Amino acid sequence: MSECVFCKIVNKEIPSEIVYEDDKIIAFKDINPIAPVHVLFIPKNHIASLNDIDNENADVISHIFIKIREMVKELGISDEGYRVVSNCGALGGQTVDHIHFHLIGGRQFQWPPG
Ligand code: 5GP
Ligand code: ZN
Repeated sequence: MSECVFCKIVNKEIPSEIVYEDDKIIAFKDINPIAPVHVLFIPKNHIASLNDIDNENADVISHIFIKIREMVKELGISDEGYRVVSNCGALGGQTVDHIHFHLIGGRQFQWPPG
């Protein structure tokens, strides 16, 4: 059994507020939201980080971005603007080693981030 917290969410071993699911990906609300909209998009197969994207798994990553695009339209924030973030590795601020894309929106963001 996997020790990865996001694999546990995929396998429904721990609960989450799922907003989208199909056979390849799942999107669920972040447990500690930093904005009115804060959804995490992940592949169901365990991929550790951006460093592990290759030609074999690139399809699921593009699938995630298409779904993010659909979701921002559904949520009505596509014209307002929003941000998609994937933290990679220790210095990048990654705390869960299962690749994920934060969709955050519903407020003003600054650049550069902290
Ligand atoms: P990272 O810091 O790796 O970029 O993002 C990990 C994110 O996962 C954080 O925003 C954190 O709040 C979220 N998170 C960690 N554990 C859980 C969990 O068990 N359930 C949910 N829904 N989110 C989680
Ligand atoms: Zn995992």
